[in-house]
Amino acid sequence: MFEIIEYPNKLLRKKSGNIKQISSKEVQQFIPELIETMIKKDGLGLAAPQVGKNINIIAVRMDSGSHVFINPAILWKNWFKKNVIEEGCLSFPGIFGLIKRPRTIWIKYYQPDGKLKIVKLSGLSSVIFQHEIDHLRGILFIDKIFKYIKGEDIIKELKQNAGKE
Ligand SMILES: [Zn+2]
Repeated sequence: MFEIIEYPNKLLRKKSGNIKQISSKEVQQFIPELIETMIKKDGLGLAAPQVGKNINIIAVRMDSGSHVFINPAILWKNWFKKNVIEEGCLSFPGIFGLIKRPRTIWIKYYQPDGKLKIVKLSGLSSVIFQHEIDHLRGILFIDKIFKYIKGEDIIKELKQNAGKE
């Protein structure tokens, strides 16, 4: 199991790079451990930078089970219909807030077997996917919260510390 990196660790703000060789031993060993970490930490999703690896891999818990998405990209977002959902993040313990995101997205990614997939997501899995893909770009959910549910005081303090570094 990996250790989760918490804010304000600078790795969380770094942009991740695409995987060139999905079949490599390094990537194939990383995938099950990322999923295991997400499940043991009770997360709905987990991005590689959250375990200290700035590579484009995310894990998402869906109705059909836990899946890994490699080099994921959002092809299209429906901005006309939005979801407002309370989000949390394993890198921000105790912090929860409301975020508005497009309800339906079309995504492109590679499966661990190297196969390219294009699928439509809506509902909770769409929200989780968007949250995790933000991580790959160094975008954090606190950048998007419009109303805090829990932990606004904690985040104010953390942001001040992050500025001092
Ligand atoms: Zn997160």
